[in-house]
Amino acid sequence: MDENKKTLLKNLPKIDSVMLLLEKKSAFARAPKDVVKTLCRYLVSDLRDAILEGAHNNFRLPTETQVAEEVLQLIEGLHHRRLRKVVNATGIIIHTNLGRAPLSEDALHQVMEVAEGYSSLEFDLEKGQRGLRYDHVRDILCLLSGAEDALVVNNNAAAVLLTLNTLSEGKEGIVSRGELVEIGGEFRIPDIIAKSGALLREVGTTNRTRLADYADAIGPATGVILKVHTSNFRIMGFTEEVELSALVALGKKHGIPVMDDLGSGCCIELDRYGLGKEPTVQDAVACGVDVVTFSGDKLLGGPQAGIILGKKDILAKIKKNPLTRALRIDKLTLAALEETMKQYLDPEGAVAHLPVLKSLTEPLADIQKRAKKLLTLLQKISNRKTLSFSIKKGASMAGGGALPTQEIPTALISVRSAHLTPNQLEEHLRHLEVPIIARIADDGLLLDLRTITEEEFAYIKEGFMKLGH
Ligand SMILES: *Cc1c(COP(=O)(O)O)cnc(C)c1O
Repeated sequence: MDENKKTLLKNLPKIDSVMLLLEKKSAFARAPKDVVKTLCRYLVSDLRDAILEGAHNNFRLPTETQVAEEVLQLIEGLHHRRLRKVVNATGIIIHTNLGRAPLSEDALHQVMEVAEGYSSLEFDLEKGQRGLRYDHVRDILCLLSGAEDALVVNNNAAAVLLTLNTLSEGKEGIVSRGELVEIGGEFRIPDIIAKSGALLREVGTTNRTRLADYADAIGPATGVILKVHTSNFRIMGFTEEVELSALVALGKKHGIPVMDDLGSGCCIELDRYGLGKEPTVQDAVACGVDVVTFSGDKLLGGPQAGIILGKKDILAKIKKNPLTRALRIDKLTLAALEETMKQYLDPEGAVAHLPVLKSLTEPLADIQKRAKKLLTLLQKISNRKTLSFSIKKGASMAGGGALPTQEIPTALISVRSAHLTPNQLEEHLRHLEVPIIARIADDGLLLDLRTITEEEFAYIKEGFMKLGH
């Protein structure tokens, strides 16, 4: 090792000295000593690595005071919130990366109330004895869907896993090859079937599966017939799939339970609002299916949850499965879910008050009005000479695996800058204190007003004002 390196290594800032310096600073006084020491070690070890890797000749070691300053900055950084509010300007209403469904005001209020004190989570107030957390939403779920019984768990992936494990562990689960999909985020139907302990029995082909394909696969090893909503994937053209009602009849004939993984959990007839048809929970139950699973935070418009509806005997088996305890729903989710379900007692009210449904069904004219308001606001800002804003027509998407081929008409604000590329604009907006997540198309930055509320205009205006001149 050359002399220069040796000297540098010898003169590395001493952790104990840095610690002594830090103890005099007030901000440090509150962080655990071990945490501070670990941060010191990281910094000094980075310096050591830099020297060993051949720091160049005029490499200057920072002083102990400088290292102490850096540690303080790291501690300050730890106080910055990572999980933060963002403005969703993408026009994708159920955006999994942006937290899916925003909660309604009523649901939020209920979460606050349950979170801030004690609650009747597992206490039966009628009888004054231990109760079940699952009972709070069971009656309303059954009433609204027509199902005999209901259970809620952590998310739909958990609901599918738990149901398959209960009905088909060590047995075959029959699924059409056209439905062996990946939903996104590592959720693949064949993998979840394998993890449930069921054996995948694929039938039919990618584009066409007939009732006879299912019937031929039924045997002593069959545990369940599974139908999967293909979510954000569609096969077009020469296709054929078997209706749920035909599968139910087949299952009944052979005494085999039929399960429907509905995914989105739509409870509203969306075609009434000029949108395409999404299978509803009520329709699935009315078909006589043995068990249906769906998410709480997709089209249902509630918190992350997995909802399992179905026949009493099947739900009884599921409730006895030890996995249920491992996948159980927490009280804040339950509070939000109960309040969300109550909104469906007035379906038109649900469409008006649940943010997901409100966004999805908002008339174009209202969105255009909002776009004009935002445009006026943005055109007033001082750097308008280098930024130009205009209104464009475009399309929003439902997201969350619902209505995947439907383009929902919307109004966009297109932003162009004289100095910055659309990518640079996008990055600037993404790094704001309240980040604005926009999309880029046709060489411009686009803000979709369908997913932007008027309350969020201030963040957008401020964001563009921060761009400088
Ligand atoms: C989204 C989806 C899932 C996974 O649900 P999560 O709530 O994200 O766990 C499973 N199946 C289908 C068909 C889906 O659309």
